[in-house]
Amino acid sequence: MSGGAVSIHWFRKGLRLHDNAALLAALKGAKQVYPVFVLDPHFAKPEFVGVVRYNFLLESLRDLDKSLRTLGSRLYVLKGKPLQALEEKFKEWEVTRLTFERDTEPYAKLRDTQARELAEKHGIEVITTVGHTLHDPEQYIAKAGGADKIPLTYSSFGTLFRRLGKVPAALSAPTKEDFPQSSTLVRTDALDDHRFDVPSLKDMGYEWNDDEHEVRFPGGETEALERMRRHLQRKAWIAHFEKPKTSPNTLEPSTTGLSPYLKFGCLSPRLFYHELARVYAEYRDHAKPPVSLHGQLLWREFFHMCGYAVKNFDRMEGNRICRQIDWDTNDALLAAWENARTGYPWIDACMTQLRREGWLHHLARHAVACFLTRGDLYQSWEKGAQVFDRLLVDADWHLNSANWMWLSCSSFFYQYFRVYSPVAFGKKTDPSGAYIRKYLPQLKAFPDKYIYEPWKAPPGVQRSCGCIIGKDYPEPIVDHAEVSAANKARIRACYDALKQAEKAKKTTTKDAKS
Ligand code: FAD
Repeated sequence: MSGGAVSIHWFRKGLRLHDNAALLAALKGAKQVYPVFVLDPHFAKPEFVGVVRYNFLLESLRDLDKSLRTLGSRLYVLKGKPLQALEEKFKEWEVTRLTFERDTEPYAKLRDTQARELAEKHGIEVITTVGHTLHDPEQYIAKAGGADKIPLTYSSFGTLFRRLGKVPAALSAPTKEDFPQSSTLVRTDALDDHRFDVPSLKDMGYEWNDDEHEVRFPGGETEALERMRRHLQRKAWIAHFEKPKTSPNTLEPSTTGLSPYLKFGCLSPRLFYHELARVYAEYRDHAKPPVSLHGQLLWREFFHMCGYAVKNFDRMEGNRICRQIDWDTNDALLAAWENARTGYPWIDACMTQLRREGWLHHLARHAVACFLTRGDLYQSWEKGAQVFDRLLVDADWHLNSANWMWLSCSSFFYQYFRVYSPVAFGKKTDPSGAYIRKYLPQLKAFPDKYIYEPWKAPPGVQRSCGCIIGKDYPEPIVDHAEVSAANKARIRACYDALKQAEKAKKTTTKDAKS
């Protein structure tokens, strides 16, 4: 082949054409471009990635393939260990350039370092860009003066964020003209080569059951952009959005529902940020961080920075910002929580929605996370985060770990004495329990008075509702008033022990110096 690069653009997150600097770098002066996604069958297991998220991923890949085909290209889906799969193609396709968007999770960082080394060994130029966050996490660290100096509060993060200046503009998607078009250069036969097609869920060993799962968030960039635009048309809603005023138990999401699209990079956070700014410009009295939609993107940014800078961010041990708490280990309690069998309808309805749709409103996540950890069951936040990581359609390593630490009063938030009631919390915004009736149909017939506490219904009422508590629906597994009081005392003791240990450490250091 004559001059010009032969590029592989390696999609991982960033499953989009808009604002994709790495894809544009692959295209620049190239005579051949292979947009590639590598499906590692090792992770295609329901015990790692739940079926709802896997389905979202495959839908996103199908959408990407469709969009690339309109530009005369296609998506090449490879299967296997990424490095092995890539190396094979480096040789077969005579690749000279590899591009990808940087990924900041520990597993991905290691994989990408190895991919870079491998490519360089083959004499391949490697270009990486940043597009998953508003700014490069490295820039935050550099500005803060080191990974151990990053701000650990939202307000001090806000100051650092402003010091970085303007959020870079979102880039336009490439056009047909940006792709190498000549049939001598593009292997037209490859467009019809079904070996590289996006597989089905079944091909990947997954079973979809309509009775158990529902697609509330169809995957893909096309859907992401449509959803964002639909929201942006409701200008007043966007301008005055305040997160705490949204309800956790509406039957349709009361927030944007854009998290799966941001997680997989079907939507660029920079595009969303700037589109929001355009709406804000029309409303002098628009909402502000931390509660506004810009504020939500800043939470995302803050937690991404923290997860990038803090070692062992997803665990208690060896994590410098995580308080050590003496969590219990009780698999039966954990299983009851995970399988919506706690006997508290509000908690069980949330866990049913999570399993069914892969998504929960932020405050519903608050409720179930508090219940599992410091509120009621006193199980480690790590266990809860693992369940979320498997079931959430938007599971994001940084955001999930950070929020679990927050809810369990392990980091960021320490008001352990403020515990959510598994009865009163949901009632505030949904007194008649429509949400519970939807997700727990066995309780559907209970009068409003008992829908949050069905165990209090007299036996006659239970019989007439066709649901006997203890038989058709569980009794509460714990007495909330009792356990929450005991848990508060335990956390207070852990905090006190920590204070003592810090004091002792300071005294020892002082003594050693004098
Ligand atoms: P909106 O309110 O419309 O916000 C827009 C975007 O801002 C979201 O899509 C998200 O990207 C970001 N955002 C909003 N709230 C937060 C927050 N508290 N922290 C970080 N980013 C935020 N979010 C995930 O995307 N992935 C996770 O794995 C995840 N795990 C969580 C675990 C727990 C225990 C809790 C309490 C929260 C978790 N969140 C997670 C944060 C939050 O609940 C979701 O981002 C939000 O509910 C998604 O809905 P939305 O897109 O409608 O949010």
